[in-house]
Amino acid sequence: MKTYKIALLPGDGVGPEVTRAAVEVLHAVADRFQHRFVFDEHLIGGASIDATGEPLTQETLVACREAQAIFLGAVGGPRWDKSPRRPEQGLLELRKAFGLFANIRPVRIYDALIPASPLHADIVAGVDLVVFRELTGGAYFGEKRRGEDFASDQCIYTVIEIERIARAAFQAARAREGKVTSVDKANVLETSRLWREVVTRVHAEEYPDVRLEHALIDSTAMQLIRKPRHYDVILTENMFGDILSDEASVLGGSIGLAPSASLGAEGPGLFEPVHGSAPDIAGRDLCNPIGAILSAALLLRYGLKLLDEASAVEAAVEHVLDRGARTADLGGDIGCQAMAELIADDVLRSVSFSHHVQMHWG
Ligand code: NAD
Repeated sequence: MKTYKIALLPGDGVGPEVTRAAVEVLHAVADRFQHRFVFDEHLIGGASIDATGEPLTQETLVACREAQAIFLGAVGGPRWDKSPRRPEQGLLELRKAFGLFANIRPVRIYDALIPASPLHADIVAGVDLVVFRELTGGAYFGEKRRGEDFASDQCIYTVIEIERIARAAFQAARAREGKVTSVDKANVLETSRLWREVVTRVHAEEYPDVRLEHALIDSTAMQLIRKPRHYDVILTENMFGDILSDEASVLGGSIGLAPSASLGAEGPGLFEPVHGSAPDIAGRDLCNPIGAILSAALLLRYGLKLLDEASAVEAAVEHVLDRGARTADLGGDIGCQAMAELIADDVLRSVSFSHHVQMHWG
């Protein structure tokens, strides 16, 4: 029996609820596949500020460093809006500490949830895309200046930063439909012109078998609503990716469904649902745990390289949705914990892997 150490950072709001749900499903995976998962729980965000004054402590960092993967619930909430240290800072520091440059957000529309989508069934049916967002460069990390009557955010990208996220996206495309849409604003921004040059070169030299198209961010924001099935892998920089991946995540009908993985060149990856701490529904067993549970599936696939195990969790989510189980955000009355139990139960019972897709990372 192999042992894997997973750092758990439940955080704030619904974070602890969805983390408990993901752990319940991981316990079922351990039972069915004969693994041992050791969970090491630590503070982050507002909970950490309350206990220590800091959103991310050395103790939490050391625990994450010793783990093979990090699972995070969510951070933030109105309670800390006026705090000198913000909970979200803990997440940014974590991304920086582990050099997590690739943010991966898959969006798959389950047939059973087509009616929940804000778009028409004939537009969303069959959507299966993934956004590869560069996470450590661009305007979010450039020098920030504030004068009396001006403010500026410097946007910088280096060739190395673009090359490594481009390679990750091309590799993923090879294991999917074989198509990458690289999104930029090359008609206006110098960083985007460099982005386009580097992506074109990496493609020609290393991944000529993958189809590559370039697109502008403004038209992509529109096409993602008009023709979402057009996309397979979307590759883009930090700020554009932030916006596009949130837009893509609501195609499925609720932000509570969307998972994410953030990976670096080495060391543990960070796996977390896309949603925030949802303070409006926290502590009432109302939140949807599926985004967190699918993040646990990404943890199995990318973090621990347990591909059959990841597919078993994804199949279990699909089975449970097919059987009609819905949390409140999808118009149902099943609680967070009960939904997790249904999915965990399906992982234990189900034996077929209907749509095993092997994703590569290296
Ligand atoms: P949010 O994602 O927390 O909530 C937006 C809306 O979606 C709310 O109506 C909420 O009830 C609903 N929602 C979110 N998750 C859900 C789930 N699992 N099931 C059902 N409904 C769900 O975004 P927000 O309200 O803008 O932010 C709240 C706090 O979370 C803020 O402090 C923000 O900074 C923080 N935040 C944290 C992260 C993170 O930890 N990665 C991400 C985004 C926002």
